[in-house]
Amino acid sequence: MTKQTEKNKRDNEPELSVVIPVYNEEAVLPELFTRLYGVLDALERRYEVIFIDDGSRDRSAALLREQYQQRPDVTRVICLRANAGQHAAIMAGFEYSRGRYVITLDADLQNPPEEIGKLLAELDKGYDYVGTIRRKRQDSAWRRWASRAMNLLRERITNIRMTDQGCMLRAYDRDIIDAILDSHETQTFIPALAYLFAGNPTEITVEHNERAAGESKYSLFKLIHLNFDLLTGFSLMPLQAFSLFGIGISIVSFLFVIYLAIRRLVVGPEVEGVFTLFAIVFLLIGILLFGIGLLGEYVGRIYVQARGRPRYLVKVVLQQREAPQQGGE
Ligand code: UDP
Ligand code: MG
Repeated sequence: MTKQTEKNKRDNEPELSVVIPVYNEEAVLPELFTRLYGVLDALERRYEVIFIDDGSRDRSAALLREQYQQRPDVTRVICLRANAGQHAAIMAGFEYSRGRYVITLDADLQNPPEEIGKLLAELDKGYDYVGTIRRKRQDSAWRRWASRAMNLLRERITNIRMTDQGCMLRAYDRDIIDAILDSHETQTFIPALAYLFAGNPTEITVEHNERAAGESKYSLFKLIHLNFDLLTGFSLMPLQAFSLFGIGISIVSFLFVIYLAIRRLVVGPEVEGVFTLFAIVFLLIGILLFGIGLLGEYVGRIYVQARGRPRYLVKVVLQQREAPQQGGE
């Protein structure tokens, strides 16, 4: 490609890509469209909005298609064949994004689109990763409590420093997005991965609202799973802690066996204390099972990665054909 075509290509590229995963969100999409496009038009920057329909079973895909037809110049819709999960859907969006800056957003309007300008201002200052802290988090009590516990644990055992890991309204520079795409991780937690690559990260406070309509797509199980992705994906600490613990227990058990052996010689055979022994055995079995489960988490990740299946399958992409490029090849 000549320098000239490269430049033309860059001129065609939007400055900002907004990536939004959508899974059964028909109830909120109309309001999202009005508010989001209003905000973006007012910014007066070249932008594109990339919606990823994550295998919705309601009318979301149809609504996205309608929106595409209304604003084909700035809208792209990627429909996945099946539900791939929030982070895989965002990955798909990244893959198609062209902007110099990329902002991710939830479809449910918990992250107000009105905050986009603030994030952009930080990127303009030269930060390559803009994290967010929710000013007043509007979620159910147990979700808040669970998140607080996870935040604490993550701070302890990974080297990822985020005040608030849960909020998906975040902004990334192109270089970070490319690095994320290059790492080909099958299961990951995008804000954490981005943080690893960021050279100059910052955090700002943003508003947070209650879900505008519809319900949370995260069950307790999915939430636990996501957090396992975060912990086992970014730290070997659980595994290491377990080995240390195992060594400790082995030493204690060994001493205990010696003690029992000496007792057998000095006192002679005895049956008392059988229940104490049971208690100890059950404790050890419990720890053992936990350890096997933990190992399984890591082995599972290796297995998934080794299989190398695609993270998502694209059914259709609604987008305008790239503008014809001037300048000879
Ligand atoms: N989402 C998705 N695929 C899923 C689950 C969720 O694309 O399998 C999207 C969902 O449509 C929303 C965002 O991810 O835009 C966050 O989901 P949700 O609001 O349900 O999560 P919560 O706010 O409860 O953490
Ligand atoms: Mg939400």
